[in-house]
Amino acid sequence: MLRAVVDGMSEGLWITDPDGRVIQYNNALKEMLYTAGTELVGKTPLQVLRSQELASAVLRACREGQTTKLELNIEGVRPRTLNVQVTPLGRDLLGSAAVFQDVTELQRLEKVRKDFVANVSHELRTPITAIRGYAETLKAGALADQSNAPKMVDIIHRQSERLSELVEDLLELSRIDAKQIQLSKVPIDLAEAAQRSSEAVRPKAEGKNIAIEIKVPDDLTAIADARALEQVLLNLLDNAVKYTGPGGSVKVTGKRRGNDVEIAVRDTGAGIEPRHLPRVFERFYRVDKGRSRELGGTGLGLSIVKNLVNLMQGEVWVESMPGEGSTFFVELPGELPAK
Ligand code: ADP
Repeated sequence: MLRAVVDGMSEGLWITDPDGRVIQYNNALKEMLYTAGTELVGKTPLQVLRSQELASAVLRACREGQTTKLELNIEGVRPRTLNVQVTPLGRDLLGSAAVFQDVTELQRLEKVRKDFVANVSHELRTPITAIRGYAETLKAGALADQSNAPKMVDIIHRQSERLSELVEDLLELSRIDAKQIQLSKVPIDLAEAAQRSSEAVRPKAEGKNIAIEIKVPDDLTAIADARALEQVLLNLLDNAVKYTGPGGSVKVTGKRRGNDVEIAVRDTGAGIEPRHLPRVFERFYRVDKGRSRELGGTGLGLSIVKNLVNLMQGEVWVESMPGEGSTFFVELPGELPAK
């Protein structure tokens, strides 16, 4: 029964004799240390993990009956952090036990959370500083300056819009994280969805003399959530227009792929260098921070896209060549046309 309990634990465990040599260990420890083939029985802690700190803790438990908690960093192909507690086996110094907890993922998540808070604060500070600065200048007398006051008010207005876009994006992400949004799965006509989303970016495209072409077959239907899909397409189209120079073009195409449907948003813009490609879907990741901000970006658009697409059981990816433009693909479950 004890063996079953010990092997059922998610924490790793070993027991040593009074000399500090391993005499028993469980499955979880074997997995944690990737020691599939090697036998641990008879080995010293130093032979198993090459940590002087752990070896000393085991000897202290065996000889002096002391308990020690420590953090162990294991290097290698898959670096890991383990929290270890070493305790004596009773008062008669019969040996020691060590319990290992893998906290690598926990620490990674904590870092993600801290980075996110730092990023949010930084992003909020930029527009707030501008709004405050210009408002103070106006209060201090610039309001009477007919030639400059309107420009300052303009900046305040633009920055407050940025601020509210940022807050909207953050709220959307937090709704997704909290699984608060209920997505429906209904048949959606992709040509119509693409058309509707493109209307929203058309004024911006026309301002830059960028043509938007929609070439999605009429009978292409995805099983998706109408609002989420529109937001996905809108974000992709907005980026395509944003990162394409005047006179360029943006094209939306669609096709069936087995039981799925694939929609592609292609632009003739600046493109993205290969080294940035795997990261553009991360929160706040931008290839060119200054340029994105200048264009009104929050750095959150593509992470929202990825989250929404995944919630609809789909995939999103990008192909791009610097100087030749980018294509963002979205694959969603499809519906075969009714015959
Ligand atoms: P942003 O608000 O900065 O546009 P996104 O999450 O939408 O944030 O995109 C992340 C980054 O990916 C952008 O800052 C930009 O560098 C790059 N990117 C996104 N779409 C395109 C595109 N169509 N062409 C070139 N670069 C793009």
